[in-house]
Amino acid sequence: MKIAIYPGSFDPITKGHLDILKTGAGIFDKVIIAVARNSEKKGFLSVDERVKLIRESVKDIENVEVDSFEGLTIEYAKRKNAQILIRGLRAVSDFEYELQLSQANSALCSDIKTVFLTTKPKYNFISSSTIKEIFINNGDISKFVPEPVFEFLKTRNVS
Ligand code: ADP
Repeated sequence: MKIAIYPGSFDPITKGHLDILKTGAGIFDKVIIAVARNSEKKGFLSVDERVKLIRESVKDIENVEVDSFEGLTIEYAKRKNAQILIRGLRAVSDFEYELQLSQANSALCSDIKTVFLTTKPKYNFISSSTIKEIFINNGDISKFVPEPVFEFLKTRNVS
């Protein structure tokens, strides 16, 4: 059974993330989308809010599990018996960082391979930080985020 982890901040999950996740779910037997708990990085949404919004956004995809983790991604992947890490690539600018990360992970555990996926062109430019910027400035984010994220953010005060 091929188990893949899709790790990230997902603050919040976007249609770009969702597209990557669906592609991964079509390739692997199980994909675990996992929110990294990073104590140094103050998030826009809490980890629990992010997990809840991902759960609501992926409920129709059968072979996807939602989780969060602390510490090294590679250790988490081992605990989950995963053989693959999924990461997304948008532009060349993502490439250098993602390549370094995948090589560091491979040096820590060569059995776990990183696979890079891309989105449909219409989702390619979407990032959580762009969404936050548009949202904070009262722009319309409905085209860029799954419905549950849109509904949740509507209830949240911009501060
Ligand atoms: P991180 O903080 O770990 O980079 P993110 O939540 O920002 O977490 O992104 C998780 C992964 O999804 C990263 O590999 C990122 O490059 C990828 N990703 C995010 N948005 C897109 C997109 N629109 N197209 C392709 N990949 C994406």
